[in-house]
Amino acid sequence: MKRLALLTVVFVALVTIGLPSLLVHGTQDTGIAEEDLRPDGKEPQSISAGEVNLSVYHIDTKELVDMSLEEYLVGVVGAEMPASFAMEALKAQAVCARTYAVNSMRAYGGGGCTKHPGADVCTDSTHCQAWLSAEQLAEKWAAVDAAACLDKIRTAVSETAGIIITYNGEPVDAVFHSSCGGHTENSEDVWPEALPYLRGVPCTFCANGGRPQTAFEISIADFAAAIRPYCSAVPVASSGQLLPSAVERSAAGRIKSITVAGEKISGSVFRKALNLPSTNVAWQVSGEKLIITAKGYGHGVGLCQYGANGMAEKGETYQDILRYYYSGTEIAKADFR
Ligand SMILES: [Zn+2]
Ligand SMILES: [Zn+2]
Repeated sequence: MKRLALLTVVFVALVTIGLPSLLVHGTQDTGIAEEDLRPDGKEPQSISAGEVNLSVYHIDTKELVDMSLEEYLVGVVGAEMPASFAMEALKAQAVCARTYAVNSMRAYGGGGCTKHPGADVCTDSTHCQAWLSAEQLAEKWAAVDAAACLDKIRTAVSETAGIIITYNGEPVDAVFHSSCGGHTENSEDVWPEALPYLRGVPCTFCANGGRPQTAFEISIADFAAAIRPYCSAVPVASSGQLLPSAVERSAAGRIKSITVAGEKISGSVFRKALNLPSTNVAWQVSGEKLIITAKGYGHGVGLCQYGANGMAEKGETYQDILRYYYSGTEIAKADFR
């Protein structure tokens, strides 16, 4: 009944604000259910997701390119996740990438790429999503069977055509990271906003291959030099005994804030300054050195990619994977109109 109500609301919005718009409905039904029918009793006139185009700013060629959404997604999934991952993990990644794109597309109410005017998305992985052309993917997979890899990614995209992740009927902010190291993170412990579907969940699935622990050493003098551009309290001629202190951690163990030379900086800034794989780090002092150990790789919010692969290898479906990492969400079919 909830979905019927949702469809009605969206239909009213559709006739009120005009086209184009998005309709979303659940994916678990087969055939045409009552809620898939328009109020006039007719089947919805949906346009296949393959016919939807978006404008992509390519950061290498500095050009705006129009391409189909589904073709764009092949380049994103190929760039963002190893092709060796299990099919259901690749499908989960395809749905995340599609949800991100739909959220950004101006034709469906998104703001587009905020860095490149006129583009829906750019190919800068630090801004929108990474994307590689077919030629670039062939180069990336040159040492393996590139054609088989491309086929596998195309299958992951086409078998989830039109599917997105929604919360209360709206596409979610489908953030993801490489590996969480044991527990994902609440959004507000990393970024300012608390989102109801970005809740930390235990993840034992990334223990295999997801960089569970990395250790490295840094001299205390090098530590001070690395942190100085981000922390004005660190004196230029700092003594060798400048150490981080007053660490505030999230429940999952990641650094939320840390104090260096009396100045508080965020965990994200600390990670950037030291080029750490994650903010889930611990250290010990050994003479003039810090020995740092880090768990996982990435910000830790949303889908854990290695965790998704671990779940897929245990036989979970892409829907199970997405519902696990995005709490309280629905996996929905979007009709692009
Ligand atoms: Zn961008
Ligand atoms: Zn994980």
